[in-house]
Amino acid sequence: MPQETVGYVELEWTCVHCGTKNEGTRQTCSGCGAPMSDSQKFQQAGQETLITDKDLLAKAEQGPDIHCPYCGTRNPAGTAKCTHCGGDLTGATAREHGEVLGALKSEPQPEVKCGFCGTMNPADAKRCRKCFSPLGSAPAPAPAAATPAPSRKIGILPIAVIAVLVVACIALFALMTRTSDTTGTVNAVSWQRSIDVLQPQPVSHQNWRDQIPSGAQIGACTREVRRTQDNPAPGAQKVCGTPYTIDQGNGLGKVVQDCRYNIPDDYCRYTTVEWVRVNAVVARGNDLKPVWPTVNTSSSQRAGSQTESYQVTFIAGDKTYTYSPRSAQEYARFTPGSHWTLQVNSLGGVNTVARAQ
Ligand SMILES: [Zn+2]
Ligand SMILES: [Zn+2]
Ligand SMILES: [Zn+2]
Repeated sequence: MPQETVGYVELEWTCVHCGTKNEGTRQTCSGCGAPMSDSQKFQQAGQETLITDKDLLAKAEQGPDIHCPYCGTRNPAGTAKCTHCGGDLTGATAREHGEVLGALKSEPQPEVKCGFCGTMNPADAKRCRKCFSPLGSAPAPAPAAATPAPSRKIGILPIAVIAVLVVACIALFALMTRTSDTTGTVNAVSWQRSIDVLQPQPVSHQNWRDQIPSGAQIGACTREVRRTQDNPAPGAQKVCGTPYTIDQGNGLGKVVQDCRYNIPDDYCRYTTVEWVRVNAVVARGNDLKPVWPTVNTSSSQRAGSQTESYQVTFIAGDKTYTYSPRSAQEYARFTPGSHWTLQVNSLGGVNTVARAQ
């Protein structure tokens, strides 16, 4: 997802020795003078404001600060000799950077209470406005990338329902596959054949404008998001996520947001003329000679799809069984009065039939 820079903000750090909160760009504590060590982390200020100062902006893009290998003092990127001890900074390691600190705190934050005198102070104050005590706080814990969703407990009830359904399915399968053979005599046969009658009629649909077949009559259209992409396009609508602050390693934070582009398009109703089933002609009989019905279509009509179904009734002792042959060829074999071996399942259905010896 493309990342867009919103601007830069100043971070802060809390002195481990005296608890004073310091501006990110300060290299030594304003309370006790201790230098910021490389193990101390920057945190977001209570309220973050985008900086406009040109020097600060230039520093923000300079890269992470480096720590002097001799005295530990923070030095700006590219410094040749330590500003504190004059040590050679060639090969000094750069501060860690690039960590996402959290969503930009642009909204006014609640005031902070001074731990010494109880005075309320603005969220971004470093010292109490009354007693000048440091308003330090423990460095904020690194923001979790995502709060793990509480593990969803599957209730006992759904499991019980599923178990019952599984048992029911197995039982049904057993009943349908457990068969017994019986001899039946063909008592009656019947067939039905039908042919659909089609006629051109207007049918309405919806689709994107460029997907509508030519010749269709286009009705009302609405603008809808057809797809989302990373790159801008004419007419595209930019959608950005919440801005968040990234540690630059030099006391400043880069504020970025992830943006994508919604591409709108016309989604339209349209009408096309299609062959629609308006009627069906049916032929039925109780013999072994099925025929297709005659379709007398008008000039605007035509014959559509054909369907056929066959049924044979057997008598076996005092029971009656029905069987549906799958084709006209199979149906033709069931001469009334002929004897057949029926494989009957526990539900009374006929699984297979075979001519009796
Ligand atoms: Zn300090
Ligand atoms: Zn040094
Ligand atoms: Zn105070």
